[in-house]
Amino acid sequence: MEKTKCLIIGSGPAGYTAAIYAARADLSPIVYEGMEPGGQLTTTTEVDNFPGYPEGIDGPKMMEDLKKQAERFGSDIRWGMVNNVDTSKRPFKVSIDDGTELLAETVIIATGATARYLGLESEEKFKGGGVSACATCDGFFYKGRDVAVIGGGDTAAEEATYLANLCNKVYLIHRRDELRASKAMVNRVMNTPNIEVLWDTEVKEVVGVEQGFTKALDGAILFNNKTNKEFKIDIEGFFVAIGHKPNSDLFVDKLEMDETGYLITKGDSTATSVEGIFAAGDIQDKHFRQAITAAGTGCMAAIESERFLGEQI
Ligand code: NAP
Repeated sequence: MEKTKCLIIGSGPAGYTAAIYAARADLSPIVYEGMEPGGQLTTTTEVDNFPGYPEGIDGPKMMEDLKKQAERFGSDIRWGMVNNVDTSKRPFKVSIDDGTELLAETVIIATGATARYLGLESEEKFKGGGVSACATCDGFFYKGRDVAVIGGGDTAAEEATYLANLCNKVYLIHRRDELRASKAMVNRVMNTPNIEVLWDTEVKEVVGVEQGFTKALDGAILFNNKTNKEFKIDIEGFFVAIGHKPNSDLFVDKLEMDETGYLITKGDSTATSVEGIFAAGDIQDKHFRQAITAAGTGCMAAIESERFLGEQI
């Protein structure tokens, strides 16, 4: 059976950065790209906040460059899904969906998280053209405009206050009459004059114009779920903040995770509850979820894999 010193699962900024560092440390990493090669950034347009790109860069282009950089140092990047990791003993036996099996001395999990959307057809249509799941990534494009944030948790509250600094007006649309967010975040929302909370409100559709490949959102049709009254708001940006789902199903009952499925790593480390298995990027980070923080933890995971292997000799 094929053996590797370091198997990396996932190909977002965390996975590719781990590959760059692991390859340069002579670990000859094998990377399985997973279902969405390049990860969440391949669904964004412009990335303006990754250091080193003064003019910004397209998300897909950035991921293509990261992949090339990982390959330049000899990472073996493969198309395929890992469908099982036996975490009970080292080397870890890993099964791939094409039937391949291999043995990995260390594993870096960088499978990311998937933003949850409402599931409306119109929402899908305007993704990348007004609909976003990341205010830090896309808020800048709506400077001085009116936008809406959907959700009532800490993320929605945080995104609404972040956008309030940039935008003219922010509607916070929540399906109940009370926010789930922490008290401190609720206070911030309530004390921000250009945030208007629309309570007991749900989204029916988002609307806008489409011309060829150009899409521009101009509103959302909402309804109050207590009165059933339907109304429209004029907005250009629609930020969905109803939670993320960490892609950790493979590790249920194998690695320690919190109640929402985020892998738990030891403080100041990417080490999981099993020695030799590390986690980097959004799979273990529900707070920051940025490309740069994912890349940072990818780097940490590769260095920790190398040290771990060094300690085994
Ligand atoms: P969350 O706490 O699960 O909140 C999701 C919100 O979206 C809830 O208000 C929920 O409404 C709403 N929602 C869910 N599905 C919906 C749907 N289909 N339609 C309309 N609304 C829907 O998620 P989160 O805000 O991303 O936070 C995740 C975790 O990270 C939490 O533990 C949070 O405290 C933590 N976090 C912390 C910070 C921080 O400390 N700075 C920042 C961000 C996140 P209901 O309330 O009605 O269920």
